[in-house]
This record gives sequence, C-alpha cells and structure tokens, in this order.
Amino acid sequence: MTEPSADIAANRDRILDVIAAAAKAARRDPAAVTLTAVSKKQPDDRIEAALAAGHRVFGENRVQEAEARWAHRRERHHDLHLRLVGPLQTNKAAAAVALFDVIETLDRPKLAKALRAAMDKTGRAPGVLVQVNTGDEPQKSGVPPGDVDDFIAGVRRDHGLAPQGVMCIPPADEEPALHFALLADIAARHGLSEVSMGMSADFETAVRHGATHVRVGSGIFGARIA
Ligand SMILES: *Cc1c(COP(=O)(O)O)cnc(C)c1O
Repeated sequence: MTEPSADIAANRDRILDVIAAAAKAARRDPAAVTLTAVSKKQPDDRIEAALAAGHRVFGENRVQEAEARWAHRRERHHDLHLRLVGPLQTNKAAAAVALFDVIETLDRPKLAKALRAAMDKTGRAPGVLVQVNTGDEPQKSGVPPGDVDDFIAGVRRDHGLAPQGVMCIPPADEEPALHFALLADIAARHGLSEVSMGMSADFETAVRHGATHVRVGSGIFGARIA
C-alpha cells in the first residue's frame, strides 16, 4: 500500500470515490455506506484538516483519549458523530455513554448491564453494535459467531438494549471477504441495519459484501503517531 499523502482532504475524496464505485459494482446505493474516520493516535492538525474538509463521523478506540480529543470540539461542531470502535471496560461505560453516539463493541453481558445502568442514569442512549469475533480467535474481543443469536436475545431481554448492528475485525492472516460475508449474514438474520466492517486495507471488499460503515484510519490520516 502506498503511503497516503499529507493532504487529508484528497485522501478522503479518494476513499469516498472507491466506496462509491464499490457500492455501485455491488448494485448498492453509495449513500448507504458511511465512512468513519478513525482518528486514534492522530495529531490535532490532521483532525482539524478532516473537519475542514467537512468530515463529521469519527471513530476512536479509547474512551479517555477520545474525551481529550473530542469533548471540546463538540461545542464547535454540533453535527459531530462519534463512534467507539475499541474494547470497552465496564468502569468506563458511563464515560463512553456520555461521549459517544454509537458504541460498536458490546461483547459481554456484564458490559450490557453497565451500559444499561449508565443510560438510565444519564438519560443518554447511544446506539449499540455487537462485536462479533468472526474468526473465533481466543485472544480477540467479540462474541463468537455461534453465540451471537443467544447474546442478542439476552441483551434485549435482560438489559433492554436493542443492538442496531454488528461489527467485526477479521483475523489478520485470513481472506477478509469470508468474514465480511458472515457478518452481513448475521445482520440480515437479525434484521439489523448497521454492518461495521472494513479498514484501510480492505474497506473496498467490505463495501462489496454489504458494509454500511467502514472504519478507515491511516488511509485518511497517514501513519499513526505513538
Ligand atoms: C485502528 C482501527 C481501525 C483503522 O485502522 P486502519 O488500518 O488505520 O484503517 C479500524 N477499526 C478499528 C477497530 C481500529 O482499532
């Protein structure tokens, strides 16, 4: 993969073009695919460049880092849409509910319980996606595919949460298309509207397989800083 140019607006335009072409090739409406710009570990000037280019949907993987980066920007940009794409500890559930519009990484009953309590307390109700461990990888977050049906039924029944979609991060060393097809199938089976899949290296494949949200970081912003 070539290193993205420093011109964030141009990177974004190019990615939106690829998304539109992939959607059309799959006979899908390009407007049905949202580009989430994953801004974790990116410096301020690059965030500002993305905002100046008109981008408003951002993804972060850590609650505290996201608070520092976005809480003050919300005051300037009322149309921001923030999505948590990284693992969430139960003791950060309240902070996540306060900041994010969508939490993409619900993957265990204990977290569902903590989110429910935080929502009841604050009156805020961000959208929730269930993270699916499509590769059944022991070290990875997410609900194993074989447990998803019971898990979704359980969070609805026991915690009154209504997941609006699913997300996955396929194993690094496998063909992502198989995982994308599996995730799209799970979403369809449950009548869920959001399918979050695809990153810088494979977002085009994800769109062909039905992604409604692709999560692109380095492809927009360039390499992350430490
Ligand atoms: C970092 C991250 C991304 C973006 O990765 P890139 O390869 O930089 O596009 C997408 N999804 C999740 C869950 C991430 O943590």
